[in-house]
Amino acid sequence: MNASVESLSDLVLERVGFGIFVLDRDMNVLMWNRFMQDHSGLTADQVVGRPIFTHFPELPRVWLSRKVEGVFQLGTFAFSSWEQRPYLFRFDHDRPITGGVDFMQQDCTFMPLMREREVVAVCVTISDVTHVSIVQREREEAVAKLQEYANLDGLTGIANRRFFEARLRDEFTRWKRYGGDMSMLLFDLDHFKTINDQFGHGGGDTVLRVMAQRVAGVVRAQDTFGRFGGEEFALLLPCTPLDDAMLVADKIRRVIAETPVELLGTSVAVTASFGGASAHTSASAPDVLINEADAALYRAKRQGRNCSVAFRLPAADS
Ligand code: GH3
Ligand code: MG
Ligand code: MG
Repeated sequence: MNASVESLSDLVLERVGFGIFVLDRDMNVLMWNRFMQDHSGLTADQVVGRPIFTHFPELPRVWLSRKVEGVFQLGTFAFSSWEQRPYLFRFDHDRPITGGVDFMQQDCTFMPLMREREVVAVCVTISDVTHVSIVQREREEAVAKLQEYANLDGLTGIANRRFFEARLRDEFTRWKRYGGDMSMLLFDLDHFKTINDQFGHGGGDTVLRVMAQRVAGVVRAQDTFGRFGGEEFALLLPCTPLDDAMLVADKIRRVIAETPVELLGTSVAVTASFGGASAHTSASAPDVLINEADAALYRAKRQGRNCSVAFRLPAADS
C-alpha cells in the first residue's frame, strides 16, 4: 500500500460516522477509531493493547466473547440489532427529548479480518441508530393511539358501537364456551327530540355528553359502556345474571333522572328507558341479545318511560 492511500484510509477511519474497533481472540483491543474515542472519552493509547473489558466492565462479557469467538471459528459475519440488544456501549446520544431512550441505540457488525484463510482478528462496527429507534417508538405509540380513537365515540368519549359490538361478540363466545351469566342493557333518552327542539342540536349534544360521562362514572371497570346510536346507549355486563343487570339499570336510571343538566342557565330534566336481556341457550348469536334488549326497551317506552324492563323468555309448557 502506498503512503498516500494509507493516510487516506487513516483519514476515513478518523472521520467515519460510526464506531470501528478491532479485537483479537483474547478480546484485546487492536484498533480504536475516532468515533469510539469521542463517545467513550478514552483514547486509542489508553485502550489499545488491553482487554476490552478492562475499561468497559459493564459490557455483556459472556455474550460478547461468544459472538467474537463465533466469528473466529466460522469466519463469517455476525450482527446484533438494537431491537435485540438496544446498545453495546453506554454511550450518550445527542437527542434532546427521548422518552425512554437512555443510551445511544446501536446496531453492531462483527466482521472477520482474514489473512490466508485464517481469521486473524474481528472488526466490530457500531452504528448510532437512536433516530431509527425513536421514530419506530413514536410510530408504535401513534398506532396505539389511533387504535384507541377508532374505538371511541367522538362526541361522548365512551366506546363506539363498533367497539361495543366487538366486545359483545367476544363475551358471547366466552359465554358459549364456559357458560355462566352475561347480560346487556340498552337505554334510550326519553323525548330527546323535545330537548333538541328547545335547546338546539348543540344543546342536545351537551346533554348527551354530560349524561354519558355521568353514567361512565358509575359503571364497573369490567363492563363496557358504549354509544349505540343517536341518544341510545348500551352496557355490556359480563358475569352478571339478568336480575343483577336490572338492578344496575335502575341505578343508572336514577343517576340520570336525579340530576338535571344545566343548559343555558336552565335545568333540563333528563330521563331514560331501559331494556335488559341475558344470554340463554336458545340465543344462537349476540344479535339475539341485542334484539331482545331492544324489545324490552320498546316495552319500557310503552309503559310510560323512565323505567326498566327485562326481556324474559316465555315459560316453557310443561
Ligand atoms: P323516545 O322517548 O320515544 O325515545 O323519544 P325521542 O324524542 O327520544 O325519540 P327518538 O329516540 O326516536 O329520537 C331521537 C332523537 O335524537 C332524534 C334525533 O334528531 C336526535 N339525535 C340523534 N342523534 C343525535 C345527536 O348526536 N345529537 C343530538 N343533539 N341529537 C341527536
Ligand atoms: Mg329517545
Ligand atoms: Mg332513540
